[in-house]
Amino acid sequence: MSKLPNVTTSIFTVMSKMATEYNAINLSQGFPNFPVDERLTDIVSRLAKENVHQYTPMAGHPPLMNKIATLTQSSYNRTINPDTELLVTAGATQGIFTTILALVKENDEVIILDPSYDSYESPVLLCKAKPVRVALNDDYTPNWERIEKACSAKTRMMIINNPHNPTGKILTENDFIQLKNLLEKYPDIIILSDEVYEYITFEEKHISAHTKDFLLDRCVMVSSFGKSFHITGWKIGYTIAPEHLMKEIKKVHQFLVYSVNSISQFAISEYLDIVDVNLLGKFYQEKRDYFQKLLKNSRFELKACEGTYFQVASYANISDEDDVTFCKNLIIDHGVAAIPISTFYSDHKDQKLIRFCFAKDDFTLESAAKKLSEI
Ligand code: PMP
Ligand code: GLN
Repeated sequence: MSKLPNVTTSIFTVMSKMATEYNAINLSQGFPNFPVDERLTDIVSRLAKENVHQYTPMAGHPPLMNKIATLTQSSYNRTINPDTELLVTAGATQGIFTTILALVKENDEVIILDPSYDSYESPVLLCKAKPVRVALNDDYTPNWERIEKACSAKTRMMIINNPHNPTGKILTENDFIQLKNLLEKYPDIIILSDEVYEYITFEEKHISAHTKDFLLDRCVMVSSFGKSFHITGWKIGYTIAPEHLMKEIKKVHQFLVYSVNSISQFAISEYLDIVDVNLLGKFYQEKRDYFQKLLKNSRFELKACEGTYFQVASYANISDEDDVTFCKNLIIDHGVAAIPISTFYSDHKDQKLIRFCFAKDDFTLESAAKKLSEI
C-alpha cells in the first residue's frame, strides 16, 4: 500500500525533463541560468584543498551559524541564539519536512493555503495528519475569514509562504494584524513561515515573521541560500525556531541527515562576509521589468508580481486548452517551458494561467519572449 497514493512526479521534474527532450527554453522549474558570483566559486576552489571535507556539527558549521544570526539581526533586528534556535538544513525542503515531521502528530490538522508550493502536503500526510486547504482570494491575498472558519482545536499548524510561489504575492501589515487576531484565539497553533524568497521583493518591502513579536515564540521560519545566492543545486538552507520547537526539530534532523554538506557551509560562511543580500531585490526587479517589457506586445496577460522570480501569465486570449495541455504544447510547438498553475491547487483548478521563471540571463529571456510573442 502506498503511503502517498496521490503523489506523482513533481511538475517541476516533468516540465524540466520535457524542456530538455524538446530542446526548449526552460522557464519552468525555478532556477537561475546565469553564472554564480565568481567570488563564491573562488572561495569553493580554494576551500576544496583545505580541511573542510568531514562532518560539521549536527546543527551546522558554527561560523556559518553565527553569520546567519548576524544576518537575521541586520535584516530584521531579531536576536537569535544560534546554539538553540537555528538549524542548517539541506535546502528549505528539508527544513519544511523536518519541521512538520517533528511537530505535527496523527490526526492534527494543518492549514495550507491554496494555491501552494508542493512541499507542504506530503509531510503532513506522512504524519497521518490532515492537510486543510483554504483558498486564497482571487487576487491571491489570504482570506482571513475562511482561514478562521477552517481553524479548530485540532489545528496544529498553519503554513504561510511569503513571498508566495507561484503567485509572487507578498503579505501586508494588515495580514499580520489578522494573523495576530487569529492566533490570540488559537494559542496552540504554530506557524511555519516559508520565506525562501525573503530578499526578492520589489516595490513593497518584505515583512518577515521575524519582525512580529507575537510570532517569535510560535513560528518556525525556513529560508534557502539556493534562492538568495543563485545556487539552488547546493541545497543549503536554514530553519529558525524558538528553543522549545527547535529542540524537537533537531531530534528529527539528526536521524534524517545528521548534518548537511560541509564544503557548501564553509563557502557560504565566508561569502556572507562579502555579499550584500539587499541588492537581490533590485537585481530581480530589473529582470522582472525587462521580461514584462519583452512580453508587452504578446497575447499573454501578465499578472502583478510583487516578489519571487516568477511571473504568472494568462493565456486565455490564446487557447482554450487546460493549463497542463497548454504547457506541454508550448514546449512541443513553441519551444518554451512553463509551469501550469493548476498544479499548485489541491483540486487542480484550471484558470488558464501559467508561471514563467525569469531568473535567466537576458539572452534567454529575449529568446523566450520572441517565441512567446509569435503565438
Ligand atoms: N519553498 C518554496 C516556496 C520554494 O519555491 C522552494 C524551491 N524553489 C523551496 C521551498 C525549496 O527550497 P530548497 O531548494 O532550498 O529546498
Ligand atoms: N521551487 C522550485 C520551483 O518552484 C522547484 C524546486 C523543485 O524542483 N523541487 O520551481
